[in-house]
Amino acid sequence: MDLNRKNYYSNEADWQYMSVSQFKDFMKCEAATLAKLKEEWKPNSDDTALIVGNYVHTYFESELAHEEYIDENRQVILKKDGTERAAFVQAIDMIEALEYDDFFNFVYQGEKEVILTGDLFGTEWKARIDCFNYDKGYFVDLKTTRSLSQRYWSERYGGYVSFAEEYGYIMQMYVYKQLLEKKFNKEVTPYIFAVTKESPPDISAIQIHPARYDFEHYTIEEKLPHILRVKMGEDAPTACGKCEYCRKNKRLSGFIEIEDLLNT
Ligand SMILES: [Zn+2]
Repeated sequence: MDLNRKNYYSNEADWQYMSVSQFKDFMKCEAATLAKLKEEWKPNSDDTALIVGNYVHTYFESELAHEEYIDENRQVILKKDGTERAAFVQAIDMIEALEYDDFFNFVYQGEKEVILTGDLFGTEWKARIDCFNYDKGYFVDLKTTRSLSQRYWSERYGGYVSFAEEYGYIMQMYVYKQLLEKKFNKEVTPYIFAVTKESPPDISAIQIHPARYDFEHYTIEEKLPHILRVKMGEDAPTACGKCEYCRKNKRLSGFIEIEDLLNT
């Protein structure tokens, strides 16, 4: 299966390829991710955050892509009178914060929305890169986030982390870097441009110390074989017991002690 804009996020593509977001989903809850893959269950989540993110992304991709995206999501983006809903008035602020920044414009040059696939850790991965500058050997990922300095407690990292760790962006940058370097046979540096949903939005250009990649490499190496077996139906999926899917299927079987509330 060859990937393109239309089928990149399809269920078929998710079966055929591993992706960073699928891997992250499996790490969060195997049972929910498998049920989603099998199309037995769909998260009931509000898509607005995702659509705001794509709205910002397509703006920097091309005028055509942005117009098409607004057309496809007209009902979410626009009110009946044709003006933007509050979340998208905010999204326009986010776009402008980047658009009027000289450093952003200087760096955000290259091929947009590059789709690529490749073998890593013995399986085929898919990736979609916001902006790839082949000549200068770097790529850029745009991230929309709540705040640049918000702290999140992370079990995986064993401490408080930034949004970049919490949302698996270091892992994502590591995988994309590997895929690009394998395909183009040259060193490629990832950068993140983050823009916040605050008013006015905060912006940041972020680089990643290469030492951080070791931990991501180790995590994938350790967890991927089991995740692939779960995906192929060879290992039983583990339920996290806390997510939307698990809460929906929860049945009590006895008491827990107060201490278990924070330990499960
Ligand atoms: Zn779960």
